Amino acid sequence: MTLGFNTLAIHAGTEPDPATGARQVPIYQTTAYVFRDADHAAKLFNLQEVGYIYSRLTNPTVSALANRVAALEGGAGAVCCSSGHAAQIMALFPLMQPGTNVVASTKLYGGTIQQFTNTIRKFGWSAKLVDFDDPKAIAAAIDDNTRALFCETICNPGGAVSDLDAIARVANQHGLPLIVDNTTATPYLCRPIEHGATLVVHSATKYLTGNGTVTGGVVVDSGKFDWSASGKFPSLAAPEPAYHGLNFHAALGGMAFTFHSIAVGLRDLGMTMNPQGAHYTLMGIETLPLRMERHVQNAQAVAEWLEADPRVDFVTYPGLKSSPYHNLAKMIVPGGAGALFTFAVKGGYDACVKLVDHLKLFSHVANLGDTRSLVIHSASTTHRQLSDEQRAAAGASSNVVRLSIGIEDLRDIIADLDQALTAATA
Ligand SMILES: *Cc1c(COP(=O)(O)O)cnc(C)c1O
Repeated sequence: MTLGFNTLAIHAGTEPDPATGARQVPIYQTTAYVFRDADHAAKLFNLQEVGYIYSRLTNPTVSALANRVAALEGGAGAVCCSSGHAAQIMALFPLMQPGTNVVASTKLYGGTIQQFTNTIRKFGWSAKLVDFDDPKAIAAAIDDNTRALFCETICNPGGAVSDLDAIARVANQHGLPLIVDNTTATPYLCRPIEHGATLVVHSATKYLTGNGTVTGGVVVDSGKFDWSASGKFPSLAAPEPAYHGLNFHAALGGMAFTFHSIAVGLRDLGMTMNPQGAHYTLMGIETLPLRMERHVQNAQAVAEWLEADPRVDFVTYPGLKSSPYHNLAKMIVPGGAGALFTFAVKGGYDACVKLVDHLKLFSHVANLGDTRSLVIHSASTTHRQLSDEQRAAAGASSNVVRLSIGIEDLRDIIADLDQALTAATA
């Protein structure tokens, strides 16, 4: 019998510490690990035996977290990284070569649009941003140099829900992997691999840790993609010069991506998660199901309250019947439409800024997925460096404020919004 999600959130990837019996996962604050002898060392370096060498590659606390997130997402393996943005580079790294591109959604988190439009060009990669609500537009953007599709389950901040099944069908028809950023949904609300995703990326900074203490990321591999079929993924399915000519797919099958990410990706890019951060995230995940249940309950109620308020123009929460994504949300995130959305205050930009300044319980921060309720005016902060068109496409126009609804008492959250709306629209 497979264990349930609540059980996995507490137990997956961890056993009592073999050396001490410690019940909680110890923080293995060590850089290196003593080899039994020269033969043992050689076997580890040849990937003939799995074990610990050096903490830029693997560390027992970090591995426990990777295994737990892999179990929650239903993946074959996972690799932890120093941030969500590091996870995105690590997801693309084994797939891409200079001259290749990723076809990605226009509705991605602003930081990702920035990373994809400018920074990855320095590696010789590029991104084509298209409307992922339209499978035909995705198919039309794919060319011979495309190596992946990339979208978010519930888009930050606009509350658009991606039709993962339809997008995965396009990816399949073209023999390409689909990468899904599942940060805002978490595996509690959606398991993208069950909808056809190949890789799932997370900013562990957000709901997985859940209390704003960690910067971290995770890439989960479904283990199901055939890297050898098309000849387009030589790092994984041809002799890899960066690892003495090993063909990872031939040698490691469904674990090819995970092993390449550790043996080459972490080794050479060094975007490693630290054991302290992994420990905090493991603690956070133990209560992920309980927190997410309250997050979505509160978010649904706050969204309904705001929508009925005459001081508010509109609310983008996909859990509302008025949302164009409402029916899709029922299929993709049936347990609740997340806890992140935007709403438009009557009075535009000035009223938004006033609202943010008058909120007391809400913290004005560039973060989401905290137990605390958070607010930000995306247009003047996280999406500031984008053009007006990019902002509008991403659902971050200047007249909207983004809320990340916490797990406080609902009446306190609403009372705070009520008094700030009064001040903002006076
Ligand atoms: C925050 C965020 C990221 C980036 O994660 P960091 O941990 O801040 O690097 C990526 N995608 C989404 C959807 C995010 O919310």
